[in-house]
Amino acid sequence: MSEGMELSMDKLREYLENEGVHPSYHRLKILEYLMNHRTHPTVERIHKELSKEIPTLSKTTIYNTLKLFLSKGIVQELTIEEKEMRYDADTKPHAHFKCMECGDVYDIALEFPNLEREMIEGHKVTECHVYLKGVCKNCLKRTGK
Ligand SMILES: [Zn+2]
Ligand SMILES: [Zn+2]
Repeated sequence: MSEGMELSMDKLREYLENEGVHPSYHRLKILEYLMNHRTHPTVERIHKELSKEIPTLSKTTIYNTLKLFLSKGIVQELTIEEKEMRYDADTKPHAHFKCMECGDVYDIALEFPNLEREMIEGHKVTECHVYLKGVCKNCLKRTGK
């Protein structure tokens, strides 16, 4: 889904239906969270935040929902670090910058060719990721480096 889209529940419901996903309450809340928090949250993070509002929401439900979203191309999965799966509702090709000080992950509007679904030297590409690592602007400011 692209940025700047209106985030009413009706719009999200319509979006899921168009993708062939039954818009259950939990699914809508998870999608809404991802659309409103462009911080590339982990399952842990989503669970921590959403369970304040929905105490019955389990990590398994979140995990299964994300897997379903993933299979429909509604979210993309980021594995910048091993064992740390993050989720992004912006499925357009863009690069990610991870701050090694605070751990935040930023979207970077870096131009790179979208190689998905292309054949390269006889190989079929199914995913294309660009990850950058360093120190984010906030941490640079904070530490005065
Ligand atoms: Zn930082
Ligand atoms: Zn992103």
